[in-house]
Amino acid sequence: AKSKGRNRWCFFSFDLHQKSVERQSLTNDLRQALANDELFLLYQPIVDLKTNRLVKFEALIRWQHPVRGIVPPDTFIPVAEESGLISEIGDFVFKQSLRQLAQWRSHYAHDLMMSINISPYQLAAPDLHMVGWFDFLHKLGLPGESVSLEITENMLMHHTDVVSAQLLAFRDQGINVALDDFGTGYSALAYLNRLDIDYIKIDRSFVKDLLEGHMEKDLCEAIISMAHKLSLKVIAEGIETEQQAAILQQFGCDLGQGYLFAKPLPVEDAEALLASQMME
Ligand code: C2E
Ligand code: CA
Ligand code: CA
Ligand code: CA
Repeated sequence: AKSKGRNRWCFFSFDLHQKSVERQSLTNDLRQALANDELFLLYQPIVDLKTNRLVKFEALIRWQHPVRGIVPPDTFIPVAEESGLISEIGDFVFKQSLRQLAQWRSHYAHDLMMSINISPYQLAAPDLHMVGWFDFLHKLGLPGESVSLEITENMLMHHTDVVSAQLLAFRDQGINVALDDFGTGYSALAYLNRLDIDYIKIDRSFVKDLLEGHMEKDLCEAIISMAHKLSLKVIAEGIETEQQAAILQQFGCDLGQGYLFAKPLPVEDAEALLASQMME
């Protein structure tokens, strides 16, 4: 029994070792990824639930790894956060998506908006070149109001002071703040008010079970009416069925996003959608 136990331990530590080697190799590759243009953005439509019109896109990052193929953000964003590469990646996301937004606004929809995911590690990092970002925004002729930053509820709680100071600077530029994955963390309502949030995004897990007789239906209704009392707009994410959309619409949910409307799209497909909407 003793030797069996030892073997098991050996196996366990080998496994841990493998994981750290794997992580190190991902980190090294990620360092190259930016230089080699392996990172790119997809754009998922966010629609006005009353009119069904596309009003903004959420930029979602992808990594085309030369050997592994597409690596999902849930895999490499944590690696980027741990290694500090998140600042450089965040800079890429900000500039690339806003360059795209400026172009689309001038060609297709002058009031189109862009939503960008921002890591709290990035917000807390001393090398966040915020002034450079604001210059960039001005050079593109984009009003701050056309940009939203999406931050997750949990991380916000852990980095309160630094993050809320940074957010204030963005808000001074008119940039909107959206609280992502709402309902999965612990934020108190008073807290939302203090941080001066503009949008909350109801997490996909609530929308998934949004059916007659399910607790999620009451929860969504309560979240939406609460948010509206606080003058917050509500975006529901992960809408996959007409039924979910109808219930959210009935509750007065402002915006919606999900496979029912469109998956995250490459530039050409997003452009085709913008063009078709312009014809309506
Ligand atoms: P998130 O911000 O909550 O993004 C929504 C995720 O849900 C996206 O996954 C999107 O593709 C997926 N999704 C959208 N509609 C549906 C639907 O109807 N059904 C289902 N099942 N899924 C749907 P994705 O693109 O894999 O991104 C995963 C997470 O990675 C994001 O979650 C976000 O936290 C992070 N992420 C993505 N892009 C960036 C980025 O540029 N910077 C940072 N810091 N994080 C990013
Ligand atoms: Ca998001
Ligand atoms: Ca989310
Ligand atoms: Ca998420």
